[in-house]
Amino acid sequence: MNPAGGIERYIVNLRFWHRPNLQTALVINQAPMGLFAAVIVLVTVLLLVAIDSQSAAFVSALEAGELDAADVQQAAGSIRTLWLVSLAGFLYFLGTVSFLSLWVYKRVARRLDEVVRYAERRIHSDDVEPLESEGDDVLARLERAIMAASDASAAKTETLRRDSEHGHFDAQLQRAFELAGSEGQTLDVVHRALAESLPGQAAQILLADNSQAHMRPMDGSAAGCSVERPVDCAAVRRGAPLLFGSSETLDACPLLRDRGSPCSAVCSPLTVMGRTVGVLHVVGEADQLPDPTQQRLLGAVANHTGNRLSVLRTLAGAQLQASTDPLTGLLNRRSFEESAARVLREHGDDAHSLVMCDLDHFKRLNDTAGHEAGDRALKLFSRLLKTTMRSEDVVGRHGGEEFVMLLPGCDADQGARLIERLREALGEASAQYEGPAFTASFGLAAFMRDGGDVPELVRAADRALYAAKDAGRNQLVRVADMRVA
Ligand code: GH3
Ligand code: MG
Ligand code: MG
Repeated sequence: MNPAGGIERYIVNLRFWHRPNLQTALVINQAPMGLFAAVIVLVTVLLLVAIDSQSAAFVSALEAGELDAADVQQAAGSIRTLWLVSLAGFLYFLGTVSFLSLWVYKRVARRLDEVVRYAERRIHSDDVEPLESEGDDVLARLERAIMAASDASAAKTETLRRDSEHGHFDAQLQRAFELAGSEGQTLDVVHRALAESLPGQAAQILLADNSQAHMRPMDGSAAGCSVERPVDCAAVRRGAPLLFGSSETLDACPLLRDRGSPCSAVCSPLTVMGRTVGVLHVVGEADQLPDPTQQRLLGAVANHTGNRLSVLRTLAGAQLQASTDPLTGLLNRRSFEESAARVLREHGDDAHSLVMCDLDHFKRLNDTAGHEAGDRALKLFSRLLKTTMRSEDVVGRHGGEEFVMLLPGCDADQGARLIERLREALGEASAQYEGPAFTASFGLAAFMRDGGDVPELVRAADRALYAAKDAGRNQLVRVADMRVA
């Protein structure tokens, strides 16, 4: 609504040949009022002058004795009339000016009040009807300037609010990822974060394997991208997020067309240790892409996911290095003891076997064929252990040319059969590798238990191993049905 109208509009819209500044506008706006006042003052002065001249003429005529009583009465009457007319005109002027000033003031004050209330509401809410402000008068311009300033201020406040929300979410996300101790837990954080920031959208993480040849989903989520190799993923190739408003558009990713129904998607690449190795794939309904704020959140999730996976993989690599023997890749002595104790706890009171193994006359092999041939023999024997033993067996390098194996769920007979197979395999393999053939002796301790003192079992198997050496080597000796407290 525009409160300007009638005389007020005439007054505030008064313009001359140039755009008035505020001071000029005020002068110009007061000019008609001033003109009106001047006219009234002029008329009053003319009337007073007329009264004065009439009074002077009357006095002269009176002194000359030219007037009778009727003339005097008439002259006094006309002077009184003139005075009354002057007074009435002056009072009329005063009343009109006061009324107009009050009226204009009230209308101007109302407009200012409305625009101030608009500004106050606009700062706190988007849902405020804008005022209709027309014309080019100074008040209309002031209204528009105040509205524009309020809108800009509201937009800035909104941006600050969103930034603060984003910062809060980002900090929360960072803490959540720091608490994730495995890749599975990291994935869980991703799903929970996306459920909070992008409700109704399905998310999936696809990661390349170590060879970079295959791309696999970290879980079987509903987002369902069928990409098989990193090079087939446009987002991985670009190394930047890709947004597809609809799977039906010409430039949409071809892999989106197999989803059954039209959909939108955002694919954010995941960078692990500086390399793009995966993608965070989020799918929603067609033409319903996340808004810019949600896209920022998505970017933050992808960023944190990549960072966390990097940290976890670095940690896992360091742990693997610390727990394995570099020459053979088998568990070292300490890790074997930890793993064996854990496996024994999990298997409970079954029959188990622990086997110590020592390569025969290894010093001689080293002395005759060289230390490198000795290393090759150690690697060959380790490979045989990895291929011959079952996946649930725990195998370690106990030190030097000694190896140790826990065969969970194997009693003495089953353990002996397994070792016999290994011994035969060694006979065949050691005859073919680049070095002299060699054999190994084994000591087996079979036992029933519900918890483990692995070093005690190792000592028992070691005694059996000595017996095997004493008995001529290249054989197995067992300590059957041994019970350890
Ligand atoms: P036995 O049949 O009684 O076990 O005799 P042996 O010669 O195998 O036993 P001994 O303990 O006398 O010698 C073990 C040798 O194994 C000595 C050492 O040089 C060698 N050895 C230990 N670790 C390594 C290794 O990592 N690489 C190589 N090449 N040799 C190793
Ligand atoms: Mg030895
Ligand atoms: Mg030896």
